[in-house]
Amino acid sequence: MIDVEDLIALVRNYNPRSNSDLIRDAYEYGMRMHEGQFRHSGEPYFTHPIAVAAILTEMRLDDSTIVTALLHDTVEDTRSTKSEIAQIFSPEIADLVDGVTKLTNLELSSTQSKQAENFRKLFMAMSRDMRVILVKLADRLHNMRTIRSMRPEKQVKKARETMDIYAPLAGRMGMQWMREELEDLAFKVINPEARNSIIRRFVSLQKESGDIIGQITADIRNELDREGIDADVFGRAKKPFSVWRKMQEKQLAFSRLSDIYGFRIITRSEADCYRALGVIHHRWRAVPGRFKDYISQPKSNGYRSIHTTVSGRDGKRVEVQIRTRQMHEVAEAGVAAHWAYRDGVRTKNPFAVDPAAWIDTLTDRFEGEDHNEFLEHVKLEMYQDQVFCFTPKGDVMQLPKGATPIDFAYAIHTRLGNSCVGAKIDGIRVPLWTRLKNGQQVDIIAASGQRPQATWLDIVVTGRAKAAIRRSLREEDRDRFIRLGRELVRVSFEHVGRKATDKALRTAAKHMGVDGAEELLARIGSAEHSAKEVLDVLYPELADQQEELEGRPIAGLEADAAFTRAGCCSPLPGERIVGITYRGKGLVIHAIDCPVLAEYEDSPNRWVDLQWRDGRHPAAYSTTLDLTIRHDAGVLGRICTLIGQQGANISDLDFKDRKPDFYRIEMEVELRDHEHLHAVLTALEAESDVAQVSRIRNPDLKP
Ligand code: MN
Repeated sequence: MIDVEDLIALVRNYNPRSNSDLIRDAYEYGMRMHEGQFRHSGEPYFTHPIAVAAILTEMRLDDSTIVTALLHDTVEDTRSTKSEIAQIFSPEIADLVDGVTKLTNLELSSTQSKQAENFRKLFMAMSRDMRVILVKLADRLHNMRTIRSMRPEKQVKKARETMDIYAPLAGRMGMQWMREELEDLAFKVINPEARNSIIRRFVSLQKESGDIIGQITADIRNELDREGIDADVFGRAKKPFSVWRKMQEKQLAFSRLSDIYGFRIITRSEADCYRALGVIHHRWRAVPGRFKDYISQPKSNGYRSIHTTVSGRDGKRVEVQIRTRQMHEVAEAGVAAHWAYRDGVRTKNPFAVDPAAWIDTLTDRFEGEDHNEFLEHVKLEMYQDQVFCFTPKGDVMQLPKGATPIDFAYAIHTRLGNSCVGAKIDGIRVPLWTRLKNGQQVDIIAASGQRPQATWLDIVVTGRAKAAIRRSLREEDRDRFIRLGRELVRVSFEHVGRKATDKALRTAAKHMGVDGAEELLARIGSAEHSAKEVLDVLYPELADQQEELEGRPIAGLEADAAFTRAGCCSPLPGERIVGITYRGKGLVIHAIDCPVLAEYEDSPNRWVDLQWRDGRHPAAYSTTLDLTIRHDAGVLGRICTLIGQQGANISDLDFKDRKPDFYRIEMEVELRDHEHLHAVLTALEAESDVAQVSRIRNPDLKP
């Protein structure tokens, strides 16, 4: 256990002006609060907050962040409160601890990868100060380092969460070392066999070739010395998970990977970066296509470095990154570089990711403001116009700020919205006009026979809810119900070669216990009964025939209704859809966000609420992709193979543009569903010869 004086020394190392008394008070307070609590490993609980604080000293963070780390579990797990912390320490520290507690309280029950992006956004939205995320990441890092003392099932759950949410979050914040370590710790739990086999390969490689890293490092250093370039050289083997991911992405065997070892040259000046590059290229052969100059063209997150890959006489390739010390700090620390100290003062690293630029929406200028004040007011505005709430099953719904439980209900399903009578937030009944907040769990109470109220139109904020409510209000007009029912019945009857006469409808109504033909039509129009039920009553001999149609891909369709996917949006199974009736064409299925739908706003009778059926669909839904690939004989072949490996067919290829370097292609592929599309896009994006890939939706191709 790191004692308090050791911790203070760690902080003093980079920040001699640190307030040692504050850290000492927090240490003693935390230790007192957690007294009698133990970790799974049997150690005193307080060893954990101390370890988290120590991790944050490696990032050279300010006193408030270190103190927050020491206190981060007190409000959650002890009798300590936010107001007590505000009183003893400061309101700023109380806010930071409260932020960490809120993130801890998010029960990440749904770890499906498709939800991961929403979780990451939720994290950002809930952390008004980025230091909250830094503490939370350090907390997760220490928990992952000590994960072995947990129950095995819990280990897997935590590891998946780390892989899906925390590691990408660290990456997004520009903290590469943390991302790599989190990934590798999770990899160790999720796929230990794969990890061990990679480590064994490293060991046998070292037996064959000796200390490769040491040899190459010495070679590089010699060359630099000869030119009088003052620089540090570091070599390292890539983390097993990075190697594994590369092998997966590139479909390469270990022996063919060129990125197993990486070398860094840290120079004293920018000019020396280019001199060092010259030395490297003079001594070893540069591999074509692998040179990148992020110094003259920095990445948007502030990353600066020169990358090149060279091959030695034995043909082995190594990657070399060249940058200055300041550039290196930004590459490692990411946004944390903004809070970092060097020699006792807050660093003003000119390359550090400007959180304002990073946040992108925050336009307040940095210049002229007091540096410290600016840092204390850095807010994560990125997702501030959205709220993220959970369904009872743990799925995250993303809604605009100001959304109500009614919006939430309509976002799940129109039927749920229409039948909504109340809502519970975190288990407590609330009025329907309540504005939702981040992280709340919303449970919609529905009752059949309920209709949307006109007053709802003033409460809701989403267009989807507004349109559905308006539609429903109009539909309350019984005449329209009847007309819609008549139309549905007519189409169904015609399809089986019968006529829906008044007499036939009266007979059916009688059999079904409905009061007259008009009432029956109204009920069909309002989806209480279906045209199929009427056909079943009148023509039971047709039932077998209809049975075959039961296995249709879309739920909510009349069994005999013809349907087509709209060319404008070509919706895939898994995407939200709506049907529009077209005379003579039956139903045309649109994606719910298709812009073409706006044209039918005023024809509510033509809207039919539909859903794709769950389960596996055949790979038969064509989708058009827009691809830009490197112009090279082998590339197109490899891409076709890649798509085949994903279980998708290519049904059409159209060359749109041939430049000397690149091809632009429109490719039609046949897919199973939305997730399948995602898998294909991911596989293509991972391919280094694909410059760009996206799905094409063409609103001009109206039905
Ligand atoms: Mn913790």
